[in-house]
Parts: sequence; C-alpha cells; structure tokens
Amino acid sequence: MRDSWLLCDFHIHSNMSDGSLPIEDVVDMYGREGFDVISITDHILDSHTLKEREEKGESVCAVREDKFKEYISILWREASRAWNEYEMLLIPGIEITNNYKGYHILAIDIKEYIDPTLPVEEIVKEIHKQEAIVIACHPHYGKREARHLYQHLWRNREKYAYLFDAWEIANRDDLFDAVGLKKFNYVANSDFHEPRHLYSWKSLIYCDKNVEAVKSAIRENKNIAIYLFRKQED
Ligand code: ZN
Ligand code: ZN
Repeated sequence: MRDSWLLCDFHIHSNMSDGSLPIEDVVDMYGREGFDVISITDHILDSHTLKEREEKGESVCAVREDKFKEYISILWREASRAWNEYEMLLIPGIEITNNYKGYHILAIDIKEYIDPTLPVEEIVKEIHKQEAIVIACHPHYGKREARHLYQHLWRNREKYAYLFDAWEIANRDDLFDAVGLKKFNYVANSDFHEPRHLYSWKSLIYCDKNVEAVKSAIRENKNIAIYLFRKQED
C-alpha cells in the first residue's frame, strides 16, 4: 500500500489486564474511528507486585505467564479480522510493568514472554532479540496520581536515552515537553483503558501501511507527528 499519513496508537489495554473492554470491542472501536495502526499492550507484571496483589486478595490485572500464549493467539486472530474488516494493522504488544522498581516499557510486535522483574537493560535486549520495538512509557511528570511510581526511566534518562527506540512524548492528556527538548525519538499514545481515553494524543506516521515500515519509521523517527485526536462532531 502507498505511503500516506497513518493514524496510530501503540499503547492500548483490554480486559485481559486492567482495561474495561474485551479485545474484540477495542478492535471494533478503533476500526470504526478510522485508525490505521494499533498495538494492544496489556500489562505483564513483576513478581513482587504480583505476589503483593495476590496476598491482598486483589485482582492481578495483568496477563500471567501461563496465559501469554493464549493472549498472543487472540491478538493474531484479531489482527487478521482488523485487516479484513477495517484495513487496520493490529500489532501484538505488551506493557512490561515493574511497579516495584518503577518502570513501564512497551514492546511492540512481541512474540515471547519477557519477565518484567529483569533489569531495564536486559528487558530491552530481550525485546530487540524478538525484533520488536521498545518504547519508554509516560516518562515524565504528569498530573495524575502515583506518577512518581513510574519515574525510574526518566530519572536515569542519560543512561537509557538511546537504549529505547522511542519515548512517549505524550500519554493520553499529558504532553511531556521535556522529552521534546531532549530531542529523544518519540511517539504519542493514548494509554487507553476505557472508551473516553480514545480522545487523546496519538501518533501520525508517514510510511507504507505494513508492520515493518511502521517499525522502521519509529526506529528512525522520521516522518512522525503527534496529533490530539478529539471527538468528531457530525
Ligand atoms: Zn503504564
Ligand atoms: Zn498502560
């Protein structure tokens, strides 16, 4: 398919972790809104936080290792439906979530499970071994509560800057101008958990509509723009 500006969102949760909608409904919603590329990125969780939640009797809100293969196969099934029904690319992803050490990392085009308990450098190495894209999530200060939990990557940004293929310059309603000032590679994502989060920051990428072209555009960070997607009035 010929080059054009593709409307993309690389950070989306379903009810396989802490999102409100089943994967099928997420696909239909983004498809109907005319998106070109999405990645569904449910949480997988570090062992410390997992144990803590289990001990408190809370729901773990994450894809467990023994459910990972099933999760990926649902995503592949939905990827083929998304293409047939909406000409929308769905790229299987995960959000590698370490709440204990304070980092969230997106892996886009993931194939195998990665343990979120590993150090950042090893997680990145594992993601790249799978030829997936690695994105640092919501790196900077935002208005939302508990943001301090996720500051590890930003605090160590000089060390990690070029380890990641891109950093989130915008996440939902927050815009991290500091990422722009540092001239890091960037993308903008919604961190979608429920339908109202659809109307938020997104990425526009000018490239062929295929997974490898989208991945190279992120890596090279060429022809990428950020776009505040708002509800279209009829
Ligand atoms: Zn996160
Ligand atoms: Zn998220």
